[in-house]
Amino acid sequence: MKVGVLALQGDVREHISSLITCGVDPVAVRRSAEIDVIDALVLPGGESTTIAQLSEVFGIYEQLKNRIAEGMPVYGSCAGMILLANEILDAKQGQKSFGGLDITVRRNAFGRQVDSFESDLTFDDGSPDLIRAVFIRAPWVERVGEGVQVLASVDKHPVAVRSQTMLATSFHPELTGDHRIHRYFIEEVARPALEKVK
Ligand code: GLN
Repeated sequence: MKVGVLALQGDVREHISSLITCGVDPVAVRRSAEIDVIDALVLPGGESTTIAQLSEVFGIYEQLKNRIAEGMPVYGSCAGMILLANEILDAKQGQKSFGGLDITVRRNAFGRQVDSFESDLTFDDGSPDLIRAVFIRAPWVERVGEGVQVLASVDKHPVAVRSQTMLATSFHPELTGDHRIHRYFIEEVARPALEKVK
């Protein structure tokens, strides 16, 4: 499985190391030809407006939007979650997302209370173990559409959600050295979705 990590801005390297431990072949992507050949994509944490703008500068905005809409498996962490959301609250004026995931997110939602924090969460993947979650000016989810499953929450606010082909977390598993979320994306989201297409 060839997994791209969108390398326009944000913590690309950390996602690449997490993916390597999951036994896939990650590659940093920013050009159209590179995106053409990936099977799945990770959108890193960073700054969602910057990543969206740079995707237009690199001429890959429409291509990414289309591939996601066509069902390429995608995982977005933090800014990546915002980029996958169909609707963004507290967006910058004119802020675009790739969309495809039927959720409404509020940008910097925790940021108004506490800028950054860590928490141990239950993650609904069948394991009783808590997962260490790092939040940095993180969004939370205010609405989930039909077919979107909530996998983790903080104070009733969903912070990890999935649909058939997409996974999004408000937090940054790439920063903790715990690769459970990346493994979940590869084994439970991407692999089944790609097998179905074959
Ligand atoms: N607040 C950032 C944004 O709106 C996301 C922060 C992050 O990815 N750590 O894009």
